[in-house]
Amino acid sequence: MSLGARQLLRELGKIVGRDNVLHHPEDLLVYEYDGSIDRSVPQVVVLPANTEEVSRLVALGYRHGIPIVGRGSGTGLSGGAIAVMGGIQIALARMNRILEVNREDRLATVQPAVINLNLDNRVRQSGMRYAPDPSSQRACSIGGNVAENAGGPHCLAYGVTTNHVLGLEVVLEDGSIERLGSRTREALGYDLRGAFVGSEGTFGIATTATVRLLPAPPAVKTFQGVFTDVPSACNAVSAIIGRGIVPAAMEMVDALTIKAVQSVMDAGYPDSAGAVLLIEVEGTADEVDELEAEVRPALHDARSTDVRAATDAADRDRLWSGRKGALGALGSLAPNYYLVDGVVPRTQLAAVLEKVEEISKEYRFPIANVFHAGDGNLHPCILFDERREGELERVTEAGGELLKICVDAGGTLSGEHGIGLEKKAYMPLVFTDNDMETMLKVRQAFAPNGTFNPGKIFPGGPELTHNIQPQAVAMAGPGAYV
Ligand SMILES: Cc1cc2nc3c(=O)[nH]c(=O)nc-3n(C[C@H](O)[C@H](O)[C@H](O)COP(=O)(O)OP(=O)(O)OC[C@H]3O[C@@H](n4cnc5c(N)ncnc54)[C@H](O)[C@@H]3O)c2cc1C
Repeated sequence: MSLGARQLLRELGKIVGRDNVLHHPEDLLVYEYDGSIDRSVPQVVVLPANTEEVSRLVALGYRHGIPIVGRGSGTGLSGGAIAVMGGIQIALARMNRILEVNREDRLATVQPAVINLNLDNRVRQSGMRYAPDPSSQRACSIGGNVAENAGGPHCLAYGVTTNHVLGLEVVLEDGSIERLGSRTREALGYDLRGAFVGSEGTFGIATTATVRLLPAPPAVKTFQGVFTDVPSACNAVSAIIGRGIVPAAMEMVDALTIKAVQSVMDAGYPDSAGAVLLIEVEGTADEVDELEAEVRPALHDARSTDVRAATDAADRDRLWSGRKGALGALGSLAPNYYLVDGVVPRTQLAAVLEKVEEISKEYRFPIANVFHAGDGNLHPCILFDERREGELERVTEAGGELLKICVDAGGTLSGEHGIGLEKKAYMPLVFTDNDMETMLKVRQAFAPNGTFNPGKIFPGGPELTHNIQPQAVAMAGPGAYV
């Protein structure tokens, strides 16, 4: 049964209150984008306060065949939160409470919009940590992390989000509220929790998450290895792992990114460096000393021109602020960046980055590289200006070439940002029709009507990049910043 626009607003208002239903065009514009380059305006945005309201909203959408898109903080980099088919966007921002921190069981239960860093800061007060730390952790939500199976610098040693989610409360398509997983690390039966994590908002809405906490390490040391070029820094990554140790984090920042970072803050990266490698080791004081005894010679062997350890916590924060603020800093070099998220075997990093450089020359776009090197997770950021006619199309084409290079090198389409809208056309590079049919069957088991986040992950359906953006640029007029 279809529902008229006014009637829909009335029904939504009955569930969340009229003030929590946004439908004026200027309000909706805030929800048309995420961190990627696509945009689309939802029909209506609702801000529920609790699981019961989410359940009633979803049931309403289900009854009337209206698409539902969940939204955390909107920092996603693959277009996941964009309501590409219109419909109802459920913005979870009001569900932002930490419900429980349990030191004995080493777990926390949170509502979906809790900001990743807020959770970590809170549990550190009790001597614990929440390990997955996306570089967006000041802004991104745990619900968004669950949906994207987010990674981060320290996931090298501790594993990505799925390794830290014990249980979930989720709302399924018909509005039913289900619990997946448990409060323990073992759960009987099929691992439905595991299937849900990384499902990119297509299986349901996560309304609470119970996550594993780890003890905060007693000692931490952060090293900065300086290199004249990126290949040497890549070799250092393999050399360190080759010594049989796994640092907590190994992050690469290339020359162009160093330039951007140092122009907006002093992160302590030398202006003349070809690449900086940040390596962090953790453990007891003795363990950290032992790890240092491996890391330093490995860096020197790989021709690092300077190796220094952060002198104190403030110095360490400074090194990390450069890495975590790198994408924002790219704004000092160009109005737009298109971040391509691929992953390759670690040993292929140097060879693949050479090809990235070739693409940069061929398409005449500067490409900055800042990435989780220890995981082989590449993030070439193509710098461009979408106001220039045709640039967006050429940038997306160059992005496609970069993904093909990753796949050819034995890697895959996404290290951590998901497929979403942005990469669905490239799925056949990695998956056969049979693979995708199998995945669709799993999706159908959770959401038989495909109500959640339609038009994502699988090829087909609307592709926004090529039509919406130029329209927006045209509407705003020449020279305008869109
Ligand atoms: C500067 C910057 C740095 C980044 N660094 C990293 C990084 O190091 N590692 C990394 O993995 N990612 C990184 N990202 C990408 C992004 O921050 C992550 O994908 C993050 O997990 C998205 O969280 P969010 O709350 O912003 O989700 P959103 O963008 O709001 O949504 C992302 C997807 O999750 C779905 N969703 C959101 N909440 C729920 C829910 N409660 N239930 C079901 N589905 C939901 C949405 O429908 C959408 O499909 C970075 C992004 C930026 C801008």
